[in-house]
Amino acid sequence: MAYKYVFGPVMSGRLGRSLGLDLLGDRICSMDCVYCEVGATRDRTCERRVYVPAADILKELALWKEEGLEPPDMITLGGLGEPCLNLDMETIILGSRRLFPDTPVAVLTNASLMTDPQVRRELCAADVVLPSLDSLVGDEFAAVNRPDRTITPQAVAEGLLEFKKEFKGQIFLEILLAEGINDSDENLGLLQDFCKRLAPDRVDVVTLTRPGTVKGVRPVDGAVLSRWRLALGGGETRNRERSGTGGKEMSLERMTAAVTASLNRRPQTAEQLAQALGADPERVRQAVEALEKMGDVTRRDDRGQTFYHGTGHVIED
Ligand code: SF4
Repeated sequence: MAYKYVFGPVMSGRLGRSLGLDLLGDRICSMDCVYCEVGATRDRTCERRVYVPAADILKELALWKEEGLEPPDMITLGGLGEPCLNLDMETIILGSRRLFPDTPVAVLTNASLMTDPQVRRELCAADVVLPSLDSLVGDEFAAVNRPDRTITPQAVAEGLLEFKKEFKGQIFLEILLAEGINDSDENLGLLQDFCKRLAPDRVDVVTLTRPGTVKGVRPVDGAVLSRWRLALGGGETRNRERSGTGGKEMSLERMTAAVTASLNRRPQTAEQLAQALGADPERVRQAVEALEKMGDVTRRDDRGQTFYHGTGHVIED
């Protein structure tokens, strides 16, 4: 069965084996980050709408459950854009929990809509919220996140602080550094003060590990990452090792559909795909190469690794 809104599982450094739900169905976001893994934003907006109805997403999730594969470690709302833009977000969180009562629900968000008390109330239904905030320096924020013109980093920070007072679950803050864009000492100082006030459950300072939207945007080096992690109390992000499906062996048809859906959302190496899908690396490699021959997947070499991405993934020159 080919899914439109359920993708993965993908192996996430922070969440383990994570089954993704796409709440937008298209590249719709309040930002257009230079490092975005799903490609350039097609519609940059802060307007909340039912971009994909909860019923459509939950119907797919119920079908995924019926397949009897190994349950994921986490169900993660995200996908091709900013999930908080979907007015059905809370219904989707609650419906996911009804289908998988033992699996926590996480939301990946750029935090830009946390200025809205209604969005914060809806997010409180989740178990884990993973906001990102890459810079508190206005010019840097504009350069790295390319947000809707109504969004300021100060408003995002205040929204996050309000959310922290209201939310009973865990907050994993992510800061992504791009060389020469948001790795300044000024930003580090401001984020240090902010992290002290927010006191999130963890801080993940990361850099680009996959091709982003804009060519030429570079990761920071290991020494910079270590310095920031030390200053912000952030730990290393590691993938959890998993092997085998623990459930039914995936059919080739099912695996091909899962590989396509996953690569349309984030570029990955064949090894990363195999780990995420809990499948035999050789079978995954065969599926990827078959898709490449059919023109449904293309490859790109980046820093000595071969990444594959779906034809829906757009990279700016
Ligand atoms: S990285 Fe996240 S916030 Fe940035 S453009 Fe992509 S989906 Fe939107």
